[in-house]
Amino acid sequence: MDLESVLMCPKTKASAMYYRTKLVVNNMTYFNLKTKEGFCYIFDESNADLSSQMFGYLHHIHFSRYLDANPDVSNVVIWSDGCDYQNKCVTIANSLLQLVVEKKMLIEQKFLTPGHTQMECDAMHSLIERRTKYDIFTPREYMLAMEIARETPSAYKVTEVQFSDTKKLSSDYLKSVRPGKKESDPKVSDVCAYRYALNDVGAPQILYKLDWMDDWHELPTRLKTDRKRWVSLFTERLAITKRKFQDLQDMKSVMPESARRQVLLLKTRNRRKRRITWFNPPYSKNVSSNIGKKFFDLLNSCFPPNHKLHKIINKNTIKLSYSCTPNIKQIISSHNKRIINESSNKASTTKLCNCRDKPSCPLQGKCLEQSLVYQATISETNANKMDTYKGITENTFKTRFNQHMSSFRLHHKRSATALSKHVWKLKDNKKDFKISWKIIEKSAAYSTKTKKCNLCLSEKYFILEKKPTLNKRKEIFSTCMHTRKYLLKNARNRGAPTTN
Ligand SMILES: [Zn+2]
Ligand SMILES: [Zn+2]
Repeated sequence: MDLESVLMCPKTKASAMYYRTKLVVNNMTYFNLKTKEGFCYIFDESNADLSSQMFGYLHHIHFSRYLDANPDVSNVVIWSDGCDYQNKCVTIANSLLQLVVEKKMLIEQKFLTPGHTQMECDAMHSLIERRTKYDIFTPREYMLAMEIARETPSAYKVTEVQFSDTKKLSSDYLKSVRPGKKESDPKVSDVCAYRYALNDVGAPQILYKLDWMDDWHELPTRLKTDRKRWVSLFTERLAITKRKFQDLQDMKSVMPESARRQVLLLKTRNRRKRRITWFNPPYSKNVSSNIGKKFFDLLNSCFPPNHKLHKIINKNTIKLSYSCTPNIKQIISSHNKRIINESSNKASTTKLCNCRDKPSCPLQGKCLEQSLVYQATISETNANKMDTYKGITENTFKTRFNQHMSSFRLHHKRSATALSKHVWKLKDNKKDFKISWKIIEKSAAYSTKTKKCNLCLSEKYFILEKKPTLNKRKEIFSTCMHTRKYLLKNARNRGAPTTN
């Protein structure tokens, strides 16, 4: 038995469908080596998924059907590849054990060595592939193609699996099929065969082999042998992704009528996105305390369930993950780069001030400095009162300064900044004042290489550290504007040659 590589539906050469996502159709095939019969179980992704439970169910219906038709068979050998969720896992083992109990028989499950063997199922798949070279719109058409794929000795038997048929076991026989518990013990991947049988007293047992020449050994786990039932696995049609749903709706125009009706049956997952706030502390090996635990403990003590913000701030909405910090190599290279950049900048642009009247330069001869945090201090000449304002600019300070000056002069710009508002208030009250400017720090604005904006960070830091009187508290939460120019939608403005 084997699963065929995914089939797409619709499958056509029409260019309108080329880039669209399509419905995935799966075909699980079984080949009887004795009678040379082929069996296909076909299901699309809206009816069943590729979980181990689904495969457990498929194995169960296939073999119980076969055994019902051939009551004299009491011994079945299953050859499959070692694919873990399809063939080699605890869910499959549970399903086969149930079969052993129901039919009072013996099942041997043997796994092929990867890359060494050819399975009859592969021949089936290539035959089917040859039949499905034409346009196909519905899973039903795949089924028809499979039915006529072979004529001698008999046609393949094709079954369509619907979500309403799918079943799973109500409880498990065992929790693991691993032959050992300790690290040094053999793993599931080392097993080459399992044997499911009833022992002398009629209880189910599971044996394993690590080598073809070995004897059978019993698994160390004890089986739970209470009565088990088959309960339904999927109670409703599975949802497909929103994008796939939309693509299939768009493709309806090129589909035949019968396929269109199928598309109408599909439904999409309409999940609400959860709002999650991430806390990303930098990771360091030198820190021994468990930051994550401390953080969540703090969260619990500060926002207990009766707190009015608990709805927004709780363990489900706040997630923690460590962020990477630069290693020594990155630190050294960035340091070197900065120094080399500085010296080359100095060599090319020595001009730091272009004021005509040098002594009245607002920054004492440094007004052409770029990307910096500055502070404006407004002192009222008569009253002994000082106010401070902190701002940043990525351009030269002079440009920003001129913008500030115009906002002080022009009435319609009076509410441009908190600083201009304050200046206009003083002006309205006919008070004299003096503004002095200074640079607090120079730091780099956002770049696509570093992916962070140190400029915005420094501004926030300085606003927090020594609170200026004019800045608003909410400025700490403002988003970085310096990333905007790198957006693709603004690329034209940057890349186009300037014409005068
Ligand atoms: Zn100047
Ligand atoms: Zn920024």
